[in-house]
Parts: sequence; structure tokens; C-alpha cells
Amino acid sequence: MSTFFLEQGNSNDEEILERLASLKSDDLSSDGHAFAFIYDAGDSVNNLARKAFASGMTGNGLDPTVYPSARRLENDLVGACLEHLRAPDDACGTITSGGTESVILSVKAARDYARQYRPEVSDPNILVPETAHASFHKAAHYLGVRLILVDIDPTTMRASVEDTKSKLDDNTILIVASAPSYAHGVIDPIVELGQLAQDKGVLLHVDACIGGWVLPFQRDNGVAIPDFDFQVPGVTSMSVDLHKYGFTPKGISVLLSRSRKLRDCQYYSCARWSGYSIVNPSILGSKSIAPMAAAWAIFQHLGKSGYRELVGSMWTATEKFVEGVSQIEGIKVLGKPTMGLIAVACGKSDVFELADRLTEAGWHVQPTYAFGNSPAHIHFSIDPGNSSRVDAFLVDLAAASKNLPEYSDAPEALVQLLEAVAQGGGGLDTSTMMAEFGIRDGKLPDKQATIHRLLNSCSPQAREKLLILFLGEMFS
Ligand SMILES: *Cc1c(COP(=O)(O)O)cnc(C)c1O
Repeated sequence: MSTFFLEQGNSNDEEILERLASLKSDDLSSDGHAFAFIYDAGDSVNNLARKAFASGMTGNGLDPTVYPSARRLENDLVGACLEHLRAPDDACGTITSGGTESVILSVKAARDYARQYRPEVSDPNILVPETAHASFHKAAHYLGVRLILVDIDPTTMRASVEDTKSKLDDNTILIVASAPSYAHGVIDPIVELGQLAQDKGVLLHVDACIGGWVLPFQRDNGVAIPDFDFQVPGVTSMSVDLHKYGFTPKGISVLLSRSRKLRDCQYYSCARWSGYSIVNPSILGSKSIAPMAAAWAIFQHLGKSGYRELVGSMWTATEKFVEGVSQIEGIKVLGKPTMGLIAVACGKSDVFELADRLTEAGWHVQPTYAFGNSPAHIHFSIDPGNSSRVDAFLVDLAAASKNLPEYSDAPEALVQLLEAVAQGGGGLDTSTMMAEFGIRDGKLPDKQATIHRLLNSCSPQAREKLLILFLGEMFS
């Protein structure tokens, strides 16, 4: 029986809000100890965001003729992003609900662009570096487009132009590049990829979801940043999340297009039903104005100088972090991060044990599995909250890195069992399996290295299936 949706209503709002607040007691807190998930610019920003978010609660961006404020907010925000990424005058854009939606739409636009302007394409494919965000795989899966993985250089972690060139064929509709990649914070060779895209007449999407807002401020601050934006010939679209390093509440990203012709292919309209005709710029129908209102308020509150200052302090912390890691024996940073996104690997030692030790020391970190040319590592995102704690973190990191055991894959028999479970066999039901691993009531055990070693030892395909089984257990 439901314990919260009762027959009798409760007019004591305070009590309801208190109960709501108490649900958050176990949530990840933004007290500066988290190096993933949290992009927090502090109370002065958050207090304004809360009020602006609430003010946008009642509107619906579904119809900008009925809610002109939605149109104004969107045009203002898109305009600021176009200027920030040095787009030409006739470029344009759309507000979406997040990076994943922006990415899916960039692929949808490319697919429909090919349908319209390159009818000879029979089996469309997109070229996606190993380091590009998983949402491109999701987009390809949803949209029935073939995804071809592109190699990365194992030292720089940047996409290989040679490999892109060799895999590009008559059915290629889109090349993808990251600025920068989530895992390693490195920018793909966008000038070269732009040249290739132009030579071959294909589109080039630069996924700047995580870094698009930060990198121009880095450049303003005198940090050398390779060209990655609309100044690069051949770049046809870009995605930029505001709900990451724009420090705005969740639910907002921007997809920019070099031309109306391309954006028209992103739009969708339908007049073939008995209700109102629709024309949607994005995947959503009804669209909350709240995240736009909050972003609009925060842009004004911080101004360019405010962002530049935050970006500057994150970069100082990042340089200190990278230098600190280089002083610690046995661990190293993968590639050369262009902003505060850092991947730390530890050679033959057990990176998952290192993650457990850091967790025990009170830090929240993100263990990440090996894929392609990227070894298993721990990911760290620097934000204004954790920037001031980097010194303390490095002390703990040095201690945790001492005497790490050597990494070895999980026992073969166990891996075989999990591969079988993933395929619906193995004679083990999911809840039993999860209990075996100490996962109870949706909570992972304190020590997770065993689970991570196992998943790291499995094939990506098995890992995908197991994650679905795991998530399914968590929800009613
Ligand atoms: C976070 C991220 C995305 C997906 O964004 P969501 O807002 O989580 O949907 C896409 N690309 C990159 C590079 C990202 O970092």
C-alpha cells in the first residue's frame, strides 16, 4: 500500500516539504568532496536560480505564440551561445532539455538532411570517436543510423584523423568530434576534421556539451585552446550544455546550427491526427520554461567577467591537480586536459582499489572502465566547489596510491557466469546476483572494487545488459 498517497489530503505544506527534504539525506551533497556529477557555483547563484526557476514554472514553451516569454528567453540564450562560439550571422539554434537531447537532435538533423539533399545515401552512417559521449550511440540506436567507431591516439586521447578518413564512405552523413571529451578533457583535431568534412561534403558536429561554455573563457584567460568552434570551416553544428558548466539547474542545453537549412531538418511537424497540428524544434512536446528562466537569470547575475573568474579558479585548481598527480609515483593523467576534466590511470595497479580508498577518505569519484585505447581510470570533474579542496585531495591521493595491489581481471568462471546471465541464462536471478554483490535497496556497498573489476572484465555488450537488469531491480 502506498505510504505517501493517502485517501486524506494534508494541508500542512510545511510538513510535506520537510518530508521531501528528508528524502535527500543520503543524496550526494555539493560540499566540495565530489569530483563528478556536481557543477556548483555556490549559494549566490543557486539562490537566484531557485527563484527564477520557480517563476518559469507555469508557462509552456510548446507554443511560443501563446507564451512570448518562452520565445524571448530562448532567443536571448541562443544568441549568447552563438556569440560565445563565434557563429556566423545566419547561424541559429534551439534550447533542449539536456546534452543527450541535443546530441540525438544533431544526428536526427544529419539523417534528415541526408534524406533531403543526398538521396543516394542508402544506409547512413556516422563516424564517432571512441571517446565521444555514449549519447551518440543512443542517437544511432534510436534513429536507425549506423555508428562507426573511430580510433583515438593512445597518448593524446584525440580522435585519429587518419582512421576517420579511412572509414568515411559514400554513406557517411556526419563526423562527430568532442570539445572536449568528457573522460579526458581533450579536444579532437577539429580543424583537420573540418577540412575532411568539407572535402567530402559531410556534416561535422562538435559536441561541446561539457566544455563549450568554458573553453572560450579559458581562451580569454590566456590559456592556449585549439580552435574548436564555428570559426573552423566545416563545423556545421555544436551542442553546449548550460546545466553543466553554465552552472544552471538541470534541464537545459543548446544545439546550434550553422544554417537554417540544417536546423529545418532538425524540426518536426505533424498535421496528421485529429488534434492540434504540432511543430516541435526538439524532441519534447510540452516544454518547461523554468530551466530557461533560471539560465537567463544566471547569465545576467554572473556576466562574462563572473564566468571568466570561475573558469580561472577552476583552471588554477586543474593545473595544481595535474601537477600533483605527476608527483605521485604509479599514477598518471591520460592525455593533456584543456579544462577541469581529468582521467587518472595507474598502469598495472588496481585503479578500482584506488577508487575505494578515495571513497573511504570521504571523496566521491567516478571509476571508469577500459574501452578501446582508453584504459580503466578514475574520472575527476573540477568545479568551483571542489577547487578549493584540491590540496587536501592530493594528500589523500598520494596516501591512497601507496602499495596498490596489481590489477587482475575477475576470475574467468565468474565472468563467464555474468556473460551468461546477461544473455538471460546462468540460472541466476537478478536480485540474488545483486545481493551476492552486496547491493541492497538500490545502494551499492562501500567497497565496490570487486563489482568494478567484474564489470571491467566483461564485454561491453554484457555490461550493457547487466546494467539494464540492475536498473530494472531498482524501480517498481
Ligand atoms: C554530459 C555530456 C553529454 C550528455 O549530456 P546530458 O546533459 O547528461 O544528457 C553529451 N556529451 C558530452 C561531452 C557530455 O559531457
